[in-house]
Amino acid sequence: ADGAIFQAKRRGYGQTVAAVGASTVRSGSDIRDALARGEFVLHYQPVVDLTTGTVDKAEALVRWVQPGGRTVPPDEFIHLAEQTGAMLELGDWVVATACRTAATWPTTVDGRPVAVSVNASGTELQDPSYAGRVLRHVADAGLTPDRLMIELVESNYSLSSRSVRENLMSLTDAGVRLAIDDFGTGYSSLSRLDQLRVDILKIDRSFVRALTGPDQPMPVVTAILAMADALRIEVVAEGIETAEQADWLRSRGCTHGQGYFYSRPVPELGPAELALVGS
Ligand code: C2E
Ligand code: MG
Ligand code: MG
Ligand code: MG
Repeated sequence: ADGAIFQAKRRGYGQTVAAVGASTVRSGSDIRDALARGEFVLHYQPVVDLTTGTVDKAEALVRWVQPGGRTVPPDEFIHLAEQTGAMLELGDWVVATACRTAATWPTTVDGRPVAVSVNASGTELQDPSYAGRVLRHVADAGLTPDRLMIELVESNYSLSSRSVRENLMSLTDAGVRLAIDDFGTGYSSLSRLDQLRVDILKIDRSFVRALTGPDQPMPVVTAILAMADALRIEVVAEGIETAEQADWLRSRGCTHGQGYFYSRPVPELGPAELALVGS
C-alpha cells in the first residue's frame, strides 16, 4: 500500500530488511542521490563448472545499502529506477564497477580468468548509447570482451526495436557473450536464440526448485538440456540449493550451476571463493 513500510524477511540478505515502498523511494533523484553518495554495492555469485567443480564466472547483483545499514534487494528498486529514468545511470555504474572489479580477480585454481556477468534491463537495451558505453567500460578495465556476459530477461525487451537489435549486434560483434536469464519462464522463442547468437541459457530457478528426487522426470529441463546441447549453447542451472539437485543436473549433462549450495552472492570474490570445489 502507498506509504506503507513493510518488513520482509528474505533469504540471502542475512537480515530483516525494511523493503522500500513508495514511502522511501519515490523518484529517480532518490536513486541518483544514492548513486552520488555511493550507496549501491555489487555482490558477486559464483557460477560453477559442474564437470570440474571450479568457478567459471560470477554474476554481479546490485544492492542498495541505505543509511542506517538496511540492505535493499534489487527487486525492490530496479523497477523504480526504470520508471523514474534513473536506470541508465544505475546500469552504467553497475557495468563499469563489475568490469573494474573483474579485472582484479585472481585466476581460478586451474589458472583460468573468471568472467563476469551483468543483468541488463529493458531500458538499457533500448538506449542507443548502451553498447558503446559497455564496450568502453570493458576497454577501460582492460578486460577482453569475452570476459563480460550480458544477461537478458526475454520479457524485458523486444527484438522489433531497432536500437535493441543494434546494441546486441554491436556487443556480440565485439565478442561480449549473451545469456538468456530465467529461461523457460518468459516468451522463449527458438528463433530468437538463433537471431541473437546466444551463448548461454540460464534455466530458471523455479525448475530447479521442483527437483527433489534423483529419479524425478523433469521433461522440460531435459528438453532444454537436449536443445542447448544440439545448439551448442552453454546451460547454467540457477538456484541450486541441494546436492541432490546438483547431482540430478550433472548426471543429465548440465555443465554449469549457480546457487546457495555453492555460494551465496558475496561482496568480494577472493581466493577462498574461487577455490570452492563443487561436490
Ligand atoms: P537474476 O538475475 O535471476 O539473479 C538471480 C537471483 O537469485 C539473485 O537475487 C540471487 O541472489 C538469487 N539466488 C541465487 N542463488 C539462489 C538460490 O540458490 N536460491 C534462491 N532462493 N535464490 C538464489 P537478487 O540478487 O535478489 O536479484 C534479483 C533480480 O534482480 C535478479 O534476478 C535480476 O533480475 C535483478 N538484478 C540484480 N542486479 C541487477 C542489475 O544490476 N541490473 C538489473 N537490471 N537487474 C538486476
Ligand atoms: Mg541474472
Ligand atoms: Mg535468473
Ligand atoms: Mg530474475
